[in-house]
Amino acid sequence: MEKILEQLNPEQREAASHIDGPMLILAGAGSGKTKTITTRLAYLLSIGIDPANTLTLTFTNKAASEMRERALSMIDNPIYPPLLCTFHKFGLLFLKFNIEKLGRKNDFVVIDTDDKKRIIKNINKELPTSLVASEISRYKNSLVKPDEAIAQATQPNYKMIASIYRTYQDYLLENNLVDFDDLLMLTYDLLEQDSNLRKDISNRYQYIMVDEYQDTNELQLQLLKKLCDTHTNLCVVGDDDQSIYGWRGANIKNILEFSNMFDNTKVIKLESNYRSTKEILEAANLLIDHNRNRLGKRLVSTRGSGKPITLFQSSDENEESDKIARAIKELIDSGVSAGEIAVLYRINALSRSLEEGLNRAGIAYQMVGGVRFYERAEIKDAISYLRIIANSHDDFSFKRVINRPKRGIGKATIEKIEKAAYEKRLSIFQFLSETPKDELSKLLSKKAYASVIQLINDLETLQETLNRSTMDFIEILDNIIGLKEYYSSMPDGMERVLNLDEFYGLFRDTIKKNPQISLDEFLNEISLQSDQDQINGEQISIMSVHASKGLEFAHLFVIGMEEEFFPLLGDGCDIEEERRLGYVAMTRAKETLTLSTVQSRFHKGRRKHLEKSRFLTEAGLLKGSLVLEKSTNYKKGDLVKHKLFGMGRVLEVTRSGRNFKLKINFGGNHREILSSFVEKI
Ligand code: ATP
Ligand code: MG
Repeated sequence: MEKILEQLNPEQREAASHIDGPMLILAGAGSGKTKTITTRLAYLLSIGIDPANTLTLTFTNKAASEMRERALSMIDNPIYPPLLCTFHKFGLLFLKFNIEKLGRKNDFVVIDTDDKKRIIKNINKELPTSLVASEISRYKNSLVKPDEAIAQATQPNYKMIASIYRTYQDYLLENNLVDFDDLLMLTYDLLEQDSNLRKDISNRYQYIMVDEYQDTNELQLQLLKKLCDTHTNLCVVGDDDQSIYGWRGANIKNILEFSNMFDNTKVIKLESNYRSTKEILEAANLLIDHNRNRLGKRLVSTRGSGKPITLFQSSDENEESDKIARAIKELIDSGVSAGEIAVLYRINALSRSLEEGLNRAGIAYQMVGGVRFYERAEIKDAISYLRIIANSHDDFSFKRVINRPKRGIGKATIEKIEKAAYEKRLSIFQFLSETPKDELSKLLSKKAYASVIQLINDLETLQETLNRSTMDFIEILDNIIGLKEYYSSMPDGMERVLNLDEFYGLFRDTIKKNPQISLDEFLNEISLQSDQDQINGEQISIMSVHASKGLEFAHLFVIGMEEEFFPLLGDGCDIEEERRLGYVAMTRAKETLTLSTVQSRFHKGRRKHLEKSRFLTEAGLLKGSLVLEKSTNYKKGDLVKHKLFGMGRVLEVTRSGRNFKLKINFGGNHREILSSFVEKI
């Protein structure tokens, strides 16, 4: 078991082998925090702690699966794997087993942000949907219930939002839906209400670990406290300088005050960075040093010097993306694998010009985030059919696909059906399948009646098919419903059909791997797919800085290094959070880092002249002009060649402003020349 700890440095080892009591591992980027808790998990299992007694929480599925793989590779396979997942996945599992205690059925469906917005839009069209959506999220994450929200609201707009919140929550309840925030809020509610359940769960999870702890919010903290009801074996790791979810309610105080909240906290600091070259680390440290509200940590490079940071300066976004595409091509041509390359941007809108440039150059890329696979219309339609089949109460999905493919059922008809179903306190599906045919035919037009009867028959056939066999179910579904046929006639039909094929393939694969999986389980799995899950090794990745959290790439580009874009300036801008985002971005790089800035950019319908980002200056990369050379390859005695003076030998190397100056002996003539004007031979 000592072997497991061998690959750690002394501080990491101390942390990984500390077993009982609260612990905070506080350290900068790339210092091995994730590696340390992964190793700690393996260590706990190796000394005989039951995997079922551990719980390791992270923020993305990708991070969770990487950690699981690494932890398990260090030890003999345990009888069953430890639970290592995102907060939301944990909530989902917990609710599957316990939501009935809240008087709800456990065949609930998890809705995504897009679904959430549609529901809100149906309730209210006056206030901007995304504002209402984020305010509802804020309420839930601060544990404010609809009634409290209504009582607290003073401003007219907030009164309206609070009442939308109530209607929205009622709608979810009626349709047995839960949103992402509910996964945590309902879990908390259950643990809060039921002290026996709380004790049980806390006794089950004796050893709890949390990665990226700096991004937890109030709800997550309160949830963790409930999970620690009977013990304080909570080990959290984080970096206050990487807290980037303030806008989503993450509370940096959770990390700053951890030791005050949990008595006898062991605090461990890690001070060696194993990820980035000295140049990259120095620039990132210089940048973050400009924040006042921070704990301040030491972080020294263990990797030594590499290449200087490169600054690309272009006149506009087209030149920028061409330059980046060219640089990426050179890397790939020189043998770098595409999976080691990423381009980051602060806001998603900047991806368009970048994508165009990559397309022009024929570079395959995958966008992490943006319009995600599961958010495409055709995929959501297929999912909606599956949801209706899994849960006949799901009116929301029913309404989405009742006229997709087109069945001649218009808006007025849908409203009529919905109203009649509501009066009988039935879901739409139940209403249509249970109401006597003559009654239905009176309610609907002839055409609509025929279509509805056909649809209900089809859905019932599919339910029966599913009970018989799951293997060819998805093909039968497409045959009966005809989604591929419907989408194939659209202008971008080919792509949509390919997407559907991919989704059907995924369904079959999942069943093959896990024949016991229920349709519910399948649906809930995919609703929790995070952005990072889409990364695979063969293409370069492009993504927002937020999506890059915890990841590392050998070669990294960051575009849009201009005032207004990075830092993003405007209402509610928090410059310190912007700087932390800058720090996160730069510290994803292992070998080379290229920062790119343009003189003007087309944005929101007009061309804008832009200033270079203050972060470039703060990181010591801009002193009036180009990059500060941090080191030089030249030393006394080197042979060099100059265009005019020919061959010579270096006598002395000195710094000259941001560059290095060489004193060179050209056949007896001594000259002082900037290092960039000669070539080494
Ligand atoms: P972030 O703050 O970005 O999440 P982190 O602190 O979690 O970073 P890790 O991702 O765990 O850092 O580690 C960064 C890199 O350093 C990884 O490639 C990891 O394998 C390597 N590393 C960590 N500790 C050591 C060590 N003791 N010896 C060698 N390599 C290490
Ligand atoms: Mg990490």
